[in-house]
Amino acid sequence: MKKAALVLLVLCTAALCAGCPFRRAPAVRADRTVETDVVVVGGGAAGLAAAIEAVDNGAKVILVEKTAALGGTTLRAGGGIDAAESPVQKQQNVNYPASQYEEDVFRYGEEKANRELTAVLAKNSASAIEWLMSLGMPLVLADPARYPSRHRVPEGSFGVELIKLLASVAADKGVDVRTEERATEIIQDQKGAVTGVKTTGKDGKTTYFKAKATVIATGGFGADANLIERFAKDWAGIRTNLVAPSSTGDGIRMAEAIGADLTHMQYIQGFPTVTEKGATLRGLEPAGAILVNRSGERFVNETAKGVTVAAAMVRQEGKTAFLVMDAKFANQAAVNTARDQGVLLEAEALDELAGKMNVDAAKLKAAVEEYNRGQETGNDRFGRSTFPVRLEDAPWLAVQVFPAAYSTLGGLRVNQDAQVLKNARPISGLFAAGEVVGGIFGADKFGVSTTTAAIVFGRLAGRNAARAK
Ligand SMILES: Cc1cc2nc3c(=O)[nH]c(=O)nc-3n(C[C@H](O)[C@H](O)[C@H](O)COP(=O)(O)OP(=O)(O)OC[C@H]3O[C@@H](n4cnc5c(N)ncnc54)[C@H](O)[C@@H]3O)c2cc1C
Repeated sequence: MKKAALVLLVLCTAALCAGCPFRRAPAVRADRTVETDVVVVGGGAAGLAAAIEAVDNGAKVILVEKTAALGGTTLRAGGGIDAAESPVQKQQNVNYPASQYEEDVFRYGEEKANRELTAVLAKNSASAIEWLMSLGMPLVLADPARYPSRHRVPEGSFGVELIKLLASVAADKGVDVRTEERATEIIQDQKGAVTGVKTTGKDGKTTYFKAKATVIATGGFGADANLIERFAKDWAGIRTNLVAPSSTGDGIRMAEAIGADLTHMQYIQGFPTVTEKGATLRGLEPAGAILVNRSGERFVNETAKGVTVAAAMVRQEGKTAFLVMDAKFANQAAVNTARDQGVLLEAEALDELAGKMNVDAAKLKAAVEEYNRGQETGNDRFGRSTFPVRLEDAPWLAVQVFPAAYSTLGGLRVNQDAQVLKNARPISGLFAAGEVVGGIFGADKFGVSTTTAAIVFGRLAGRNAARAK
């Protein structure tokens, strides 16, 4: 009797130690369990690419999406997708080698990127284009002389067309898409291998999607002020209305809870000139517009790269600035957008404009004079070197602008196989792709390469997830 009690005691003690063979994983508490080969979390470009690739590699796939519709921030990606050595580039004799693309991405990210991941991105970019075209996506080069890497759709928004296509291909191939199903937890067995996710549906019921492999593709955290404040303090207070409201970093939170490594969380690509109502104003600074702060003073080289200007704006009072222009800008597309939104200030004199902006009139005049002097001398204390026009004609124009999170560049640390790492070692059964992954770009994102990353790493994650036992 005593011996039996001793054996029981030994077994119970053993059962408490992590990793021991007698320890049982706590039962997953959920209203129901659904089994599949691969569960993909998130229905943007990365998640859909992963789901399609997993099906193509013989897996039964369920994709859970927390909102009522697929697409996420990908739907906003109007510009296009970067690649090197694609069939379109070859056909048009555009010589842009993958090694050059890798170098461009690395340099643009201030040489902070995980070079191995940048190399995966560049080397697989051509096959991403080939794959999209094979699924039926018409792609052309946007402006090969200026942007040799950039591909776009002949008509409409790239992101919208991409999601339409991938959603219909996924449906045709039998991906089981469950919308309004929010993943809340990554489930592990007693050895730490991931065995699926727990979700909550719109009826409040919980489901354990039990799978051989799980792909996290939940997008970035540009809509979550708390995560920005926590991880990227320099960017605290930037606007969160540029990305889709669904970009709240759920995958980062869930993976962090199981000890996954996070990387580059401090790096955010800020966009400098977003109106109060969320429109992105483009092209005005290179055409001669200046930026002044709430005191009416210039504070930055307005033509520096977006992330630099946005970072300078975050340091100004109220984390805001005004674009100031003269009559020559009155019919620019971005000015018309501001006018349509009711956020354009117009005045016959600079004094009057200063009054409308609520800034010091003398300082505003000095800022305009400084720019005009730069136009004459070619010198500027902030290093501005392009002064295409003189600012001198009424009516004077101003638009208040704010910096906003455009792409979050930090996230889960993955290896070249898209496996999520913990203490630099792969977590069995867990893959990640898209903006939830950190380290591909470094401190800034080159061109239109986040959709490239979503497709390249999405496919990689899907393929490897399908092969996981
Ligand atoms: C205005 C704007 C323009 C842009 N233009 C371009 C461009 O032209 N080219 C380019 O390369 N990049 C561009 N980008 C960036 C690009 O859109 C994104 O980086 C990319 O699309 C991210 O894809 P994703 O699949 O990782 O994430 P998303 O497309 O955001 O998809 C993530 C999905 O996961 C879902 N999800 C999140 N949490 C959960 C959860 N807990 N459970 C279930 N589902 C969840 C979300 O609802 C969403 O549908 C732009 C960004 C913005 C804001």
